[in-house]
Amino acid sequence: MTPADLTFDQQHIWHPYTSMTRPLPVYPVVSAAGCELQLADGRLLVDGMSSWWAAIHGYNHPRLNQAMKTQIDRMSHVMFGGITHPPAVALCQKLIAMTPDPLECVFLADSGSVAVEVAMKMALQYWHAKGQPRQRFLTFRNGYHGDTFGAMSVCDPDNSMHSLWQGYLPEHLFAPAPQCGFEDDWDEMDIVPFARLMAAHRQEIAAVILEPVVQGAGGMRFYHPEWLRRIRKMCDREGILLIADEIATGFGRTGKLFACEHAGIAPDIMCLGKALTGGTMTLSATIATRDVAETISNGEAGCFMHGPTFMGNPLACAVAAESLSLLEESHWQAQVLTIEEQLKSGLRPLRDCEQVADIRVLGAIGVVETHHPVDMGALQAFFVEQGVWIRPFGRLIYLMPPYVITPEQLAKLIAAVAAAVENPAFFRR
Ligand code: PMP
Repeated sequence: MTPADLTFDQQHIWHPYTSMTRPLPVYPVVSAAGCELQLADGRLLVDGMSSWWAAIHGYNHPRLNQAMKTQIDRMSHVMFGGITHPPAVALCQKLIAMTPDPLECVFLADSGSVAVEVAMKMALQYWHAKGQPRQRFLTFRNGYHGDTFGAMSVCDPDNSMHSLWQGYLPEHLFAPAPQCGFEDDWDEMDIVPFARLMAAHRQEIAAVILEPVVQGAGGMRFYHPEWLRRIRKMCDREGILLIADEIATGFGRTGKLFACEHAGIAPDIMCLGKALTGGTMTLSATIATRDVAETISNGEAGCFMHGPTFMGNPLACAVAAESLSLLEESHWQAQVLTIEEQLKSGLRPLRDCEQVADIRVLGAIGVVETHHPVDMGALQAFFVEQGVWIRPFGRLIYLMPPYVITPEQLAKLIAAVAAAVENPAFFRR
């Protein structure tokens, strides 16, 4: 890439959550393999992000590439209305076998945010079909579910700037975020405000929507699995649906195949995305119970009212099915456990650093929460100089590497984080 290409990029291309007038630098990546990204100038960066939870098998995996090449020679896309195809059937069979038992009706869409929209629409249609329309969702503060309007309406109101969309965004119910951490003793008081909110609005709530165990982009917080058991029971008692957004946590990231397994519960609707295709293509799945699917189908509309153009894209389904086979055949549990141990032993000593407020590790996720927000531009440049790709935000520097990372590569990531938190120049006061 030439300097002119980068200037064009700065002047004409939006990047996620980035100013168009004062853009931060972007780093040109020309290829990626295993756990390394290659910059245009030839430098190799060890990847600590898995491209936002997605590239669990690393990049340029020969089996994932082959699955796409084979499928592309057959057909890359065909409409899903009135048509089905082998990659969709193979993928959905695998998904139903992997996910908790009651989940058996799969809706394939394009991205995580759309999977959440689909889940929320399913809940609304479910209640409409029952002849008792309900339109409110109950969730936690500090949640993140995507950037489309429905998804945004259940994201943390401050993080996603609900004030900007006031009057347009539906107003849902927000309970305080869980305070009882994953490894803490269970505190009965923690859930009281949530239980009160549910009791006060029990006749209005269509569904509870939450990220099980790990609140991701809304704060990288890990909460006690007892929360999920209690919420499952409360939902059952009231007949309220439970939507688990496993878009970030799904496919092994927290040490269980799905984070709901930490609590031994099954939701009524589960959203999957990100690592579904091993980070190669965009695809999501929203999986519902037979009861949800039948209720919707027996309602006034007679069907679920959604049908995206690229629904069930064969190329994405083919690579997703291969990615799931790869996961099943791999030793992902051992890999995630090894990463967890190394993250714990490498990051926990940073607790004593002046800049550090908290260290949290769960599965292949390591989080350093700092007292002050990071200077993103300066810190990103430092990480690149150190030969690592780590994308901090706010007061969070976090690692979630591909499961196939080597101990040496992970040590390099941890060393870069340790060096960063030693330097006050990287933090805004
Ligand atoms: N839900 C969760 C828990 C997520 O982490 C994300 C993405 N960060 C989404 C939904 C939205 O997914 P996408 O960016 O693919 O639309």
